[in-house]
Amino acid sequence: MFDLLPYNTFGLDVKAYAGIIVRSVSDLKTVSAPETLILGLGSDVLFIDDYEGLAVINAIKGLEIVKTGRTYQVTAGGGVVLDEFIQALLSYGITGLENLSGIPGTVGAAPVQNIGAYGREIGSFITGVEVYDLDTHRAFTLSHDECAFAYRTSVFKEQKQRRYFITHVHFAFEEGFKPCLTYPGLDNDPSLTSAGAVRHRVLALRERKLPDPRFVGNAGSFFKNPVVDADKVATLKETWPDLPVYPTADGKFKLAAGYLIDKAGCRGITHGHAGTWEHQALVIVNRGQARPHEIVSLARYIAARVEELFKVTLIPEVRIFGRHGEVPWERV
Ligand code: NAP
Repeated sequence: MFDLLPYNTFGLDVKAYAGIIVRSVSDLKTVSAPETLILGLGSDVLFIDDYEGLAVINAIKGLEIVKTGRTYQVTAGGGVVLDEFIQALLSYGITGLENLSGIPGTVGAAPVQNIGAYGREIGSFITGVEVYDLDTHRAFTLSHDECAFAYRTSVFKEQKQRRYFITHVHFAFEEGFKPCLTYPGLDNDPSLTSAGAVRHRVLALRERKLPDPRFVGNAGSFFKNPVVDADKVATLKETWPDLPVYPTADGKFKLAAGYLIDKAGCRGITHGHAGTWEHQALVIVNRGQARPHEIVSLARYIAARVEELFKVTLIPEVRIFGRHGEVPWERV
């Protein structure tokens, strides 16, 4: 059995039937199993059981930077720790990802859900993603467009693409600091004159609001922010005039799931050894020795309370894995 405790930031004591740590593309040639689960640091997964297949851990390192004119072309190994990558870029004066500082996980996991924070998304800097198909044992590169990046999703979440092991990610960054300071906590603060200052502020905000998975098991935001239409917003505003609402590019409106959960009375609650974080209700935490079923029943309770109060459906952002692979929320 292969211990998955170091590979899930929820800190759940679960195992895979076997595991392999991949340090180079050639290691992948030996991977042949009907059921495989690709993992980096496991920062957005919830295991609800032991996994009966092979866990394939992405530990491919490496960073290459080439400057052409005013553009930095950067390639990073899929197993590079994302925050170390951001820090390294800043040390070379390359800016753009500073708003994503402090997000746990690896470079290879980042494109899968097109991670985003404080108004920036990683997909907008990605020019290509090199993958190794574990079915055909072929390596190839998907272009930015083929990755189909959208709000917290990409082509890599689709069923077939689950067999794509992301070996390297290619980025392009333009020279010069272009700040994005629209989010609460950054507040267009004129003192944030460098990417380093933004990183510093984002890390401080995260430290204040979010639990550090090294000390308190969690997988970041448990649910996605729901997106609703204008009529629904109008109805909700009648009862909740302070409801935060953010227009999306396709004419809809994004609600803050943390606000809904908080108003539904679920901030800081505990169920068994699972709970919601006192400073950000959107984060489910392992208060120590939590069992997967405690996290699942807490999540179900939260979703039911929000549905009851707001008639809005919450869908998990974390990916849920059972004995034979990913399990849709409706079947958990
Ligand atoms: P926050 O600032 O309290 O805001 C609550 C929600 O409102 C956020 O989820 C954010 O949506 C949205 N929002 C706030 N200002 C916005 C604006 N100017 N335009 C559009 N949407 C806006 O949120 P928080 O919990 O402290 O998190 C801060 C940032 O870190 C957010 O971007 C959040 O997504 C990110 N984060 C991500 C994870 C993760 O696991 N993926 C975990 C923690 C925090 P968005 O989430 O769409 O940005």
